[in-house]
Amino acid sequence: MRIIFLGAPGAGKGTQAEIVSERLGIPSISTGAIIREAIKTGTEMGLKARAYAESGALVPDDVVIGIIQERLAKSDCENGYILDGFPRTVPQAEALDAMGVKLDVVLSIEVSDEAIVERMSGRRVCECGASYHVKYKPSSDGEHCDKCGKTLTIRRDDAPEVVLSRLAVFHETTEPLKEFYAAKGILKMVEGQEKLDDTTALTLSALGIQ
Ligand code: AMP
Repeated sequence: MRIIFLGAPGAGKGTQAEIVSERLGIPSISTGAIIREAIKTGTEMGLKARAYAESGALVPDDVVIGIIQERLAKSDCENGYILDGFPRTVPQAEALDAMGVKLDVVLSIEVSDEAIVERMSGRRVCECGASYHVKYKPSSDGEHCDKCGKTLTIRRDDAPEVVLSRLAVFHETTEPLKEFYAAKGILKMVEGQEKLDDTTALTLSALGIQ
């Protein structure tokens, strides 16, 4: 299955994508995670992307399309994959079409701006890629990662003023993708719930997974 998760930053795409990835045994690919890793290790792409990502702006299409082309060519993508955070613009979606990618479902997780701002202020992340929330998904001791024990931090782009500009970018540039995929007849929507497990139940049912 080839699945896209759409939704505002903080809507829960990454969390749900990980769950579906485990259930279906296909990789979940996050362009945001690839970009953060490149920034951390200081690669050429990371240097190009840094200023955009840290201010909440989108990284230019050609850079992100290059990342995806390279990632989808890997052998673990042969039986399908989940895209979390790509495409985020109509030109990116068109590039996916031009690559000959045949999608099964585009699932949009709908969450109000108000709820997003509340969620982002409580998000805590670990260097290893794990993500928590002080209220909705706390780590066991609230401060350290359950997977690797490192101290949790706040993502730089989760600062309140950056969140508001990321939301504005989402509405203006990414939300039109709903129409793009609705026109292809592959868009499904679920209402993001306060409880993570409830959103998971709706997500699995929308994807026809038992
Ligand atoms: P995310 O972890 O998905 O919220 O992504 C973090 C940041 O990486 C975004 O705010 C963007 O700066 C950048 N990014 C991730 N995916 C894309 C994309 N498809 N297009 C442009 N920029 C992206």
